[in-house]
Amino acid sequence: MNLTWHFDFHTPGYVRVGEECDSESVAEALGGTGVEGVIIFAKCHFGYSYYPTKVGTPHPKLAVDLFGKLLNSVRRRGMRVASYVSFGIDGAAGEEHPDWRRVYADGSSDPGGWFVNMCPFTPYLGDRVLPQIEELFHLYRPDGYWFDTMSALAPCYCETCREEFREHSRHELPVDENDSLQIIAGTWRHQRGFALVERVGAFIHRLDPSASVGFNQLGSLPYPEPMPSGVTVLTLDPETTGPQSIPFSLNAAYGSHASQPCEIMPTIFHGGWGDWSPAPALRLETTALACWIRGTTLVVGDRLHPEGRLAEPSVSAMKLIASTRAKWMRAEPAPGACLEPDIVVLHSPSLTNGPDCRFFAVGDPRSRLTPVNGMHRLLLDAGLNSTVAAEWQLEEVLNVARLIVVPEIPALTLDTEKRLKRFVESGGSVLFSGKIPSVEGRPFLDTGVLVGEAVWQDHAYLPGFENPLEEILVRGEIRETRILDASVESFLIPAYDAKPGLRYGWGIGPSSGLPSANPALTRRAVGTGAIWYLNAMLASDYARIGNWPQVPWFAELVAETGVSLRARLLQGAGNLELTVWEDARSTWIYLLSHDSEQLVGEGKVWARSTASADKRKASVQMAVRKGTPTVHPLSGETTLISSNSIDLTLALEFERPFAAARIDWN
Ligand SMILES: [Zn+2]
Repeated sequence: MNLTWHFDFHTPGYVRVGEECDSESVAEALGGTGVEGVIIFAKCHFGYSYYPTKVGTPHPKLAVDLFGKLLNSVRRRGMRVASYVSFGIDGAAGEEHPDWRRVYADGSSDPGGWFVNMCPFTPYLGDRVLPQIEELFHLYRPDGYWFDTMSALAPCYCETCREEFREHSRHELPVDENDSLQIIAGTWRHQRGFALVERVGAFIHRLDPSASVGFNQLGSLPYPEPMPSGVTVLTLDPETTGPQSIPFSLNAAYGSHASQPCEIMPTIFHGGWGDWSPAPALRLETTALACWIRGTTLVVGDRLHPEGRLAEPSVSAMKLIASTRAKWMRAEPAPGACLEPDIVVLHSPSLTNGPDCRFFAVGDPRSRLTPVNGMHRLLLDAGLNSTVAAEWQLEEVLNVARLIVVPEIPALTLDTEKRLKRFVESGGSVLFSGKIPSVEGRPFLDTGVLVGEAVWQDHAYLPGFENPLEEILVRGEIRETRILDASVESFLIPAYDAKPGLRYGWGIGPSSGLPSANPALTRRAVGTGAIWYLNAMLASDYARIGNWPQVPWFAELVAETGVSLRARLLQGAGNLELTVWEDARSTWIYLLSHDSEQLVGEGKVWARSTASADKRKASVQMAVRKGTPTVHPLSGETTLISSNSIDLTLALEFERPFAAARIDWN
């Protein structure tokens, strides 16, 4: 399945619903678009149901069984239906049962009259949510259930939660974020949250063993760990604010390594869910292709008109997605082909939950993804064939990866350490960037360096590889690092007369031109591979500042590690995503242009894509495989420029917004 349609439908009680319901036309349009699955609202954040429920609260102005009519029309055309159930937000139930509301640290809860955050650890789950799932099953037998949102697992101070924490720990739930009890509270919240979701999954599978279950955000980049049992679909719902193009490529890269089917949801609206104006066509094309190029399912986030019919933005989005899909189907890899990334950015729950789990579901965990965002973007801009995988996905990617980059990850599990060591011993390379992660309270073994506690500088310069005088500025706290058993490849260069702890003018000083005794890059041979350490927070610095000289510098660092790359971009790198698939006889090369995106707005920024990426050209160098290569352009033009016994060079010209080619080896 590669295309699902999601109809958002949070509708206030005073709005008429379903008065001109035309489920047949909706279903016909979906079928014509090539949609295979549809997510339809059974219950929204207002807590209103769009079918005649006896358990929950029907929408006060519901004219027809909107859910049922849509479900039947869509199903008759062979599409699967998942029912959307708002899980953590329920205005109607919150109104009726203030005692079921989530309680914040200051004792308040949402006032009602709009969306209300609920606590699923109160009788809300057993008395309202589960009976409603059962009702949906008996009335409609939907193919799946799609729950929203993770906010249900955030800290809650209601009577039930406080009592259960007292029983668990003999303490009161901590309020102060620096309270050491937050470690116990975070771990407890994580365990009972997962157990709760497992209870829901098991309840559904007792009714219908074949039902799919999606729980929005669980298992995603902000929560990068295996989903609780009973959750069968990984649903990624990246922010609709801010950049779209590259974040969707990041989510698709991450989602491509899930052991379950992965769905990724961009919206068709310019300003996300708070808007009815359409997003530009090019933005939809680019985000759709970003999902498909990595083999994930595109879930188009749309809305139904309250009358129960398609609104104009939906009609045009469907036409556009249908033509983009046709374009993609001419370029897609053969069934059985596999993604073959050279470099893997390793992600870990310790980055978003904290190494001791204290931050689980606290605040917005997306804000703690900076190093992963930065390293993904740096590799993409450097024209390298890379991906992102979390610790739970590591085993799968180790078979294809040549280099694992670990960007400022605070802690790794013992299993991950063992896997990485095996990978290195058999010839792989691992690069720790900015931090040596801890493993069960001690530093990762065999790096050959000891990173001290004291901050040495808050910015410094990295010497160039070919010409050490080509120095690259890098910001972020740098620690004094001692060499135990590693070779030093280069030393950090401090700013002119810089002193630790003193702020330098506007914050940054010019290079002193003199190497310090603090290493910049170290290497330790382990087995037939090597462990590298970069003593600078390059990933988060690149995410925040986008310091462009770091791009060629990092490409040279990768060359320095000596890992063999299947492919890399030569001219034209930057904002261009390279993805490689292979099977026994062919290689597929995809280049997706992220050039066209602009950001507009004050405070919150919104992405729009206005420029055409038609004219883009790029060249790719590939390692040769066995046989004689024949090049087949799949999107745009591809020309073989040169080839020898080691590599070949291709020139690709884009057909908005991507270029694709297949190389057969005969
Ligand atoms: Zn609670």
